[in-house]
Amino acid sequence: MPNDSQKLARDRYDVVVIGGGLGGLTAANVLARAGRSVLLAEQHIKLGGLATWFHRRGGHVFDVALHGFPVGMIKSCRRYWTREIADSIVQLKDIRFDNPMFTLSTTFDRQDFTRLLVERFHIESAAVAAFFDATRDMNFYDDQATTTGQLFERFFPGRGDVVRLLMEPITYANGSTLEDPALTYGIVFSNFMSKGVYTFHGGTDRLIHLMGEELARNGVDVQTRCNVDTIHTNSGRIEGITLNGLRIACRAVVSNANLLDTIFNLVGPDAWDPDFLDQARAVRLNNSSTQVYMALKPDHPLEESQCGDLLFSSVAPEFRTDLLLSRNVTSRTFSFYYPKTRPTLNRCAIVASTNANYADWATLPRDEYEAGKGELIEDTLRAAEKYVPDLRERLDYVEAATPVTFQRYTKHLGGASFGTKFEGLAVSRALPDQVAGLYHAGSVGIIMSGWLGAVNYGVIVANDVDAFLMKGTK
Ligand SMILES: Cc1cc2nc3c(=O)[nH]c(=O)nc-3n(C[C@H](O)[C@H](O)[C@H](O)COP(=O)(O)OP(=O)(O)OC[C@H]3O[C@@H](n4cnc5c(N)ncnc54)[C@H](O)[C@@H]3O)c2cc1C
Repeated sequence: MPNDSQKLARDRYDVVVIGGGLGGLTAANVLARAGRSVLLAEQHIKLGGLATWFHRRGGHVFDVALHGFPVGMIKSCRRYWTREIADSIVQLKDIRFDNPMFTLSTTFDRQDFTRLLVERFHIESAAVAAFFDATRDMNFYDDQATTTGQLFERFFPGRGDVVRLLMEPITYANGSTLEDPALTYGIVFSNFMSKGVYTFHGGTDRLIHLMGEELARNGVDVQTRCNVDTIHTNSGRIEGITLNGLRIACRAVVSNANLLDTIFNLVGPDAWDPDFLDQARAVRLNNSSTQVYMALKPDHPLEESQCGDLLFSSVAPEFRTDLLLSRNVTSRTFSFYYPKTRPTLNRCAIVASTNANYADWATLPRDEYEAGKGELIEDTLRAAEKYVPDLRERLDYVEAATPVTFQRYTKHLGGASFGTKFEGLAVSRALPDQVAGLYHAGSVGIIMSGWLGAVNYGVIVANDVDAFLMKGTK
């Protein structure tokens, strides 16, 4: 791979941001706007991290992580990016569920969910309102002991069907489970319920392109193909980093790389208190994903009314987290992309996603791995034919990604799709107490993952860094 680090504008920066995922990009933008000199070093050939896309023959473009995010993204993008970006965020209005317990279509907001819960699931409207209020009022400092499973049991005892409606999409959205703290569910669920599910008009490529332009306007030195090997610390302070073998001095580092990679590999075990190391070792990675990307022939477009925008489909008789992770796939989310996503291309595509365990794929010998991908594609086509019966005749291109693919392109340990479990948040926030000037802004703890969580975490951390730099100049 060519080494782009020779083109660096300086040999010393106020801040180096490691990684160009949405958290890193946003932190870099906010810091540059505040007048800081910022280097953003991304190891891959393009920015975006998991918010990515790829081109394939036949003029097809696939989005990897553009399935839906909450309305809050509009406000965050208007404030911390540009009006053009914020104005390109549009609602997905037809969200569907199809499983052995129920089949329905919804706009996925509080009003429509209330209607469904009362009319379809026959829950008392007072109980529904109380549940929505309880989830909306949750905040980070609330009770962290109650699990999501216990929350559901309190409001809807014995109602596996209601739990499925309320939980299945959130499990797909951020990997959270019934055993996670209820507040992680409540915050994310309420974000979606406030106004539904949103997407980016023009696709991920347009979003990242617009963000790149804004970074350039604000003077961020953006470098792709720049792998940071080491974060240098001395006596509990940041000294600099080494990227592609070149040492760069800086006063602060924001790592958008995986939290555990940052602690154990980029910094290394010697810089930390033993208690902190124990706490970090106890942080669990979140699960990974598989995806199957299906492009349709241009002369065989899909009707929007046939499939809707987003479909949570399952053949599992009940909702169980272990079933969602199993290689024996029973549940998939289908995202349907119509020409409206990228009007100039006039293409339709379907992306099927499942949650998955890294170990189920990473340990396979090459031939079994390839065979596994083939089976994944075949099973997915079979499942999708329920919704698009003549899919195979319409199909122009198909390809699969596994947890190994996600690990390869983003360097996330275990190909983690959503960083770490909840306990990662406290460890991420504690980095600057251990090493002055070292910060982490990347997916952790469910709340701070997904497009909106990553952007907002980037803002929070950028403000911390700016305050730290300000102190140093007084
Ligand atoms: C299949 C899938 C579907 C998803 N769907 C959705 C969705 O519909 N809606 C939603 O809101 N979220 C979705 N997500 C999650 C969302 O995309 C992520 O939570 C979010 O994009 C993560 O942003 P981040 O800032 O944590 O950085 P990441 O995207 O994790 O990026 C980290 C970056 O750091 C770089 N990096 C790592 N190490 C180094 C190094 N040493 N040197 C230089 N660079 C380095 C990586 O290359 C990468 O670019 C999905 C995720 C997956 C995997």
